[in-house]
Amino acid sequence: MARAPQAAVATSARIIVIGAGAAGLATASRLAMGLSGASITMLDKRREHHYQPGYTLVAAGLKSPDYVLSSTREWVARGVNWVEEAAAEIDPVGKTVTTDAGQRLPYDFLVVATGLTLDYGAIEGMDVSRIGQNGLGSVYAGPAQAAATWRAMSDFADKGGQGVFLRPATEMKCAGAPLKYAFLTDDFLRRRGNRGRAELTYNAQNRVLFSVPIVAERVRMLYAERNIRVTHDHVLRKIDLDRRIATFRTPQGDAEQQYDFINVIPPMRAPEVVRNSPLPWQTGPWAADGWAEVDRHTLRHVRFPEVFCVGDIAGVPKGKTAASVKWQVPVAVDHLIATIQGRESAERYNGYTSCPLITRVGRAMLVEFDYNDNLVPSFPGVIAPLEELWISWIMKEVGLKPTYLAMLRGRA
Ligand SMILES: Cc1cc2nc3c(=O)[nH]c(=O)nc-3n(C[C@H](O)[C@H](O)[C@H](O)COP(=O)(O)OP(=O)(O)OC[C@H]3O[C@@H](n4cnc5c(N)ncnc54)[C@H](O)[C@@H]3O)c2cc1C
Repeated sequence: MARAPQAAVATSARIIVIGAGAAGLATASRLAMGLSGASITMLDKRREHHYQPGYTLVAAGLKSPDYVLSSTREWVARGVNWVEEAAAEIDPVGKTVTTDAGQRLPYDFLVVATGLTLDYGAIEGMDVSRIGQNGLGSVYAGPAQAAATWRAMSDFADKGGQGVFLRPATEMKCAGAPLKYAFLTDDFLRRRGNRGRAELTYNAQNRVLFSVPIVAERVRMLYAERNIRVTHDHVLRKIDLDRRIATFRTPQGDAEQQYDFINVIPPMRAPEVVRNSPLPWQTGPWAADGWAEVDRHTLRHVRFPEVFCVGDIAGVPKGKTAASVKWQVPVAVDHLIATIQGRESAERYNGYTSCPLITRVGRAMLVEFDYNDNLVPSFPGVIAPLEELWISWIMKEVGLKPTYLAMLRGRA
């Protein structure tokens, strides 16, 4: 793993970090440790920090929304100037960022860590304010909505009926999360003796359940065992929240599914500030949604070498998890500092992505993989990646958060 250099590198470089989420805070902390004399400015309007991997636990009734909330201020490293404004315009040719308050900030290096945007508006009829009512769930919308989703799911687990699950056709963060929630719903129905009164359908957006073939096959088998029906090539297009009907786009035309409970996962795209800048891919699979055109091994922008893009915004084939951030950030920071020092960095990000796939309360599969779809277990011989294990659950429920918080401080 790449490490911050032992002695801080003296420089007067002006560095801007856009975004104070998982990737932005980890980057700023590492830069503050690795450099002395640099001007490090971090932009983010959001004062609350969200530990998003905890949303699923909130939506399973196991944690309260407080569990995922902290103050951004707590994680801002000494020496980093946090400006509570959003980036409104990025000009990588003129090397400036303009904020929504009209400040024009010049930079020598830019790190884009904006995360992604949840595009609920792309689903006709969807209304985020109604999450938790009339069988509508959506774990992704935020801590309060995750808690509201739990109330809707718990009510469904008491009564049974039609449960509908899905994922968007776009790239998404934590692609295992929609699968986990179908597993959890199945588990709660069983615990309450109501599984026989419910039918569960998972709508995959393409022909597979997960992008890593061996994991897809394992989930397929577990879903078959648990009697979770799978339909393929189904993408949610429209929802009637009053009549509880979800309309999916399929190759054969629209298909309607009536539901008593649904977990809506919206399309995900690059935030507007990146989409409207010259940073996105110009062609290829990541162009339409605006993902940043970076080298997949260094996270350095392909056309603007003083720009790095880390975390969910990076247009790379895998890696939209907090666990990926932990491996991406040290690599990008080492390349940035190497440039200041006039040396070449040999650090490489291999696509490491980790997904603790909860299969029931108290059991999970700790799935870790790289760009080549190889399974890359952190504890080979101890934690089998495709087994439903108690220890993997503990890793998710207890182990992940301290590691995540240490990462924000640049220490993991
Ligand atoms: C339901 C759910 C479950 C998950 N489960 C897991 C899991 O089990 N394991 C795991 O490793 N990961 C998981 N993740 C994914 C993980 O949380 C993300 O991959 C991670 O947070 C990405 O970090 P980021 O910094 O790129 O984005 P974020 O953490 O989302 O931060 C982006 C920041 O950028 C800011 N921003 C946006 N636009 C601007 C702008 N114009 N100007 C300034 N600031 C801006 C935002 O306010 C935000 O603070 C899960 C996510 C969700 C939603």
